[in-house]
Amino acid sequence: MNTINAQLDNTDLLVFERKPIHNSGQIQPYGVVLVLQEPNLKVLQVSTNSSTIFGIPPEEMLGKSLEEILDPFQMERLEIGLRQDNLDFINPTKIWARKQGDDYVIFDGVFHRNTEGVLILELEPATSQENIPFLSFYHLARASINQLQETSSLRDFCQIIVQEVRKVTGFDRVMLYKFDDDNHGAVIAEEKLAHLESYLDLHYPASDIPKQARKLFSSNWIRIIPDTKAQPVELYPLNNPINDRPLDLTNSILRSASPCHLEYLHNMGVGASLTISLIEDGKLWGLIACHHLTPKYVSYELRKACEFLGRVIFSEISNREETEDYDYRVKLDYIRSQLVNDMAQSDNFVSGLIKNEANLLNLADARGAAVCFNGNWTLLGETPAEEDLNFLVQWLYKSIDEEVFTTDSLAKIYPDADQYKNIASGLVAMAISRRNYLLWFRPEVIQTVNWGGDPNNAYEADRSQGELQLSPRKSFELWKETVRLTSLPWKQVEINAVKELRKAIVNIVLRKADELALLASDLQRSNAELKRFAYVASHDLQEPLNHVSNYVQLLEMRYGDRLDEDAKDFIGFAVEGVSLMQTLIDDVLAYSKVDSQVSQFELTEVKVSLEQALTNLQKRIRESKARIIIQDSLPTIMADKTQLMQLFQNLIGNAIKFRSAATPEIEIKAERKEDEWLFSVKDNAIGIDPQFSDRIFVIFQRLHTRDEYPGTGMGLAICKKIIECHRGRIWVESELGKGSTFYFTIPVGGRERDRRNR
Ligand code: ADP
Repeated sequence: MNTINAQLDNTDLLVFERKPIHNSGQIQPYGVVLVLQEPNLKVLQVSTNSSTIFGIPPEEMLGKSLEEILDPFQMERLEIGLRQDNLDFINPTKIWARKQGDDYVIFDGVFHRNTEGVLILELEPATSQENIPFLSFYHLARASINQLQETSSLRDFCQIIVQEVRKVTGFDRVMLYKFDDDNHGAVIAEEKLAHLESYLDLHYPASDIPKQARKLFSSNWIRIIPDTKAQPVELYPLNNPINDRPLDLTNSILRSASPCHLEYLHNMGVGASLTISLIEDGKLWGLIACHHLTPKYVSYELRKACEFLGRVIFSEISNREETEDYDYRVKLDYIRSQLVNDMAQSDNFVSGLIKNEANLLNLADARGAAVCFNGNWTLLGETPAEEDLNFLVQWLYKSIDEEVFTTDSLAKIYPDADQYKNIASGLVAMAISRRNYLLWFRPEVIQTVNWGGDPNNAYEADRSQGELQLSPRKSFELWKETVRLTSLPWKQVEINAVKELRKAIVNIVLRKADELALLASDLQRSNAELKRFAYVASHDLQEPLNHVSNYVQLLEMRYGDRLDEDAKDFIGFAVEGVSLMQTLIDDVLAYSKVDSQVSQFELTEVKVSLEQALTNLQKRIRESKARIIIQDSLPTIMADKTQLMQLFQNLIGNAIKFRSAATPEIEIKAERKEDEWLFSVKDNAIGIDPQFSDRIFVIFQRLHTRDEYPGTGMGLAICKKIIECHRGRIWVESELGKGSTFYFTIPVGGRERDRRNR
C-alpha cells in the first residue's frame, strides 16, 4: 500500500524509516540499566537515574564491579548463571542492591548480551505481590484453554484472549490487532472500559507501525511503557566506551519508546501500554495491545506469563486460522461443485453459471461478475457497462497471457478503469478461450473499509526547529482513507477456486465441441447417404422405369389395334404415371445436387443467370404472353451461376404456372442493403394464403392437385436449398387473389466473405 504522506516527500520518509530507535541511548526511568564488561563484571555504562535509585551518581558507578554494588551473598549464584550461554536460566532473578548506608532495594533483574557482546543488566523495582503472577497465569491459562475449546471461529477465539488478558492485567483497553499481507492491519477483538470509544474493526495503515518498530516487535515479544509521560533517562556515558558507538538496545526491556510512538500514544490518551507480539514463522502476525488511561506497571513475571500465553495461544490462533481458511476453502469447493453441476445440466454452460446468481459472485467473494461468450455478455451484480467491458476484454486479450489474471488495482495498469473504480478496482479475469472471458469485480476499498486514521498523513514534518522532526498525526477521528484505486486483495483460496472452475468450464466447453463434432459427422454421413440416394435415383430407379415405359409403349405399338378404348386409356395412364415418376426423380436429383460442397461460388452477373432462365422458359412465356419487367441494372455477386439460374427459373416458372385470368406480369428487382442484396420476384398470379407461406418451401408440399396445376412440390424446396447454400434467406409475401412477391437475400461478397468473417 502506498502511504506516502501528502505533506512529506519521499526523502523525508526514507530519512525517518532509517532513523534508528533501538540505539537512542535512552531508557524509561522506572528501572536502571547497567552495562557490564565480562568476565570481571565492571560497569561500562549506567543510566543516569542511578543516583535516585542507588544514591550513587553515575560517574561514580563507572569502573565499579557488580560485587561492589550488589549484596555479595548472591554473587556466586549470579556468576554460575552467567556462565551459561542461555541466560533464560537466571532470568528473571531477584537482586538485592545496597542503597546508601545499610538500606537494600530489591529488584527483578534481567540479563542479556547484545550484538556487541556486552552484558546488559536491567533492574526493575520488584513488586511485593510475589505469588500473584503465578496465580494469574494459572487463571489465565485455565480460563482460556477451557473456553477456547468451545470456540471454532478465529474471531470468537481472539475475543476470549483479550477478555482474559484484560481480566488478569487490569488494563483499560485490550485489543488484538492482526496484520494483513500488505502490513496494514485491523483490530479484530477488543475489551475495554464501557465509556471508551471502540476501535473494533478499524483498519490501520501500515505507516502507523513503521518498519523498524515492526522489526523490534518481532525480536522483543513483550514491550511495556508503564508511563508514557515519564521523562526518559540517558546512559552515562552516552556511547559504549569500548567502541565509542551508541549501544545496541534492541533487546532491552527498559529501552525508551521512540518519541513518535509516545506522541501517538498521547494522542490516543494512553498513559501506559503493554504490547505482546504474536509471531508466526518469524513474521509478525499481530499484536495484543493493552492500553491504560493512567500510568500502570505490570511486573516482569506477569509480563512473562502474558508472553508465554501469547505463544501458547498463538499456536491455537494459527490452528483456528487454518481451520478458517480450510472452512472457507470447503465452502468455495461446495459452491464450485454446484456451479459445475448446474453447467452440466444446462444446454449451455453460461445459463448454468448464472442459474444461481449468488454462487458465481460468492466463488470469488465479488460484488459483480460478467460472462462474455461468443460476443454476448451476461452480467451479474455491480459491473461496468457492456461497452466498457468490450474494451476491457480487448485489452485483456492483447496484453494478458495468464489463464487466470488477478489485480487489486486495475486502473493502475489499465487507466480506462479509473472511471469505474467504484465497481471494478479489483478484477479476476478467467480466459476460457479466444475472447471468451469470465470476470469478477470488487469495488475500491474505500467503499468497504473503516479506517482508523489517515494513512496519508500518519506523520507530519515539522521543520520549525531547523532540523526535520516527524510527529504522528494529531487526529484519531474515524476517517475514510483514500487508498485510491485499490480493492481488497483477492485471497489465494479464491484464486484457486477460480482456477478450478476454469478447468471444469474448459472440460464442458470441450465436451460440447465434441458433441458438435459428432453432430457434424452425423450430418456429413446423412449428406453422403443423400448423395448415394441421388445416384440410386438417377441410375437404378430410372432403369426399371425405362423398362416399364418401353414395354408399355411396345404393348401399344404391337397390340394397339387389338385393344379396346378402355385398354388404350389404361396404357395412357401408365405412360402418364411413368412420366410423372420421371419428373419426380429429376426433381429429387436436382434437389440433391444443390450442395454447398460442390457449388462453385464466383463473381456472377445476375443479369446473365436471369436471361438464361428466361431462355429456358421462353416457350411458356410466349404461350402465356407473360410480360417480364427487369430492373435496369442488376448487380454482380458472389454466387453459383447455375444455381442462381435455377432459382430464377423456378420462381418465374411458378409465376406463369399459377397465373390468374389476367396476363402474367412479372417484375424482378434487386436492392442493396447494408451487407446483403435483397432480390424480389413479383407476380400478379393467384396469390397464396399467408398461413401457407412457410409450408410451400417444404419438400413435396403443394397447395393444389395435379389436375389443377401440374408439378411435384419440389420447386420452392430447391429454391430454399439454393439460398441456404448462399447463406441468404427466402420468404414470400402474398394474399389470395392479389399476387405474390418472393424475396431472397444473398450476402454482399457472397458466401466466401461471409465465411471469412465468422
Ligand atoms: P409445384 O410448383 O411443383 O407445385 P413448388 O414448390 O414450386 O411446387 O410450389 C409449391 C406450392 O406453392 C405450389 O403448389 C403453389 O400452390 C404455391 N405457389 C408457388 N409459387 C406460386 C405463385 N407464384 N403463386 C401462387 N402460388 C404459388
